[in-house]
Amino acid sequence: MDRRIITIDGPAGAGKTTVSKALARELGCVYVDTGALYRGVAFEIQRRQINWKDSSRLEPFLDCLDLDFVMEGREPVLTSSGRDISAYIRTHDISMLASATSAVPQVRKALLGIQKSIAGERDAVFEGRDMGTAVFPDAPYKFFLTADVNVRARRRFEESSASGIPFEKILKDMVKRDADDTQRTVSPLKQAPDAILIDATALDISQVVEKMKSMIKVL
Ligand code: C5P
Repeated sequence: MDRRIITIDGPAGAGKTTVSKALARELGCVYVDTGALYRGVAFEIQRRQINWKDSSRLEPFLDCLDLDFVMEGREPVLTSSGRDISAYIRTHDISMLASATSAVPQVRKALLGIQKSIAGERDAVFEGRDMGTAVFPDAPYKFFLTADVNVRARRRFEESSASGIPFEKILKDMVKRDADDTQRTVSPLKQAPDAILIDATALDISQVVEKMKSMIKVL
């Protein structure tokens, strides 16, 4: 692969987004949050009330879906049919629906092309669940970022304090999302054999970024 592609996979709340953004900034490349695409699918399913378990309804919906990333500086903003939907995709309900619908093979297939086309155009840090295993198996730099589930749930709880969702619910749903993401048949969340494992339970963001930068230099 000619482009410099860095993949960061791992479970929810491990700090992938903050780390990926910081790393992309330091390396002077773009940052791509592939979870936003799965959230975009969930958002449109919810908005248009699609019965996604019925493939005769899901397939025409996916055929017409027009998700894209529009660059605002180095930050890609998610659009659906040209409309910025980034403000609507971070709710708790969308997190759970994105996790459920991402297990459907047709959904994953529909999103593969857009991820590959971004990588063809520019150097990028891609964060997700299957970047190093399924989407960019040949990427030269791969990381798997994880942390203890209690620490991850605590971070999410603190980030979303305005939502009023209790810590216990966030923890319970995170355990479910981890199980769904790791146990699905198609492109499950798992560490690629050649990915470097970083456990961020006792590390802050800048320590993780420094670790990654030093590894990219020596790889
Ligand atoms: O990363 P984020 O939590 O925003 O992703 C939302 C959901 O999208 C995840 O729980 C996961 O099920 C799904 N996802 C995926 N593959 C990716 C990125 C996200 O299945 N590459």
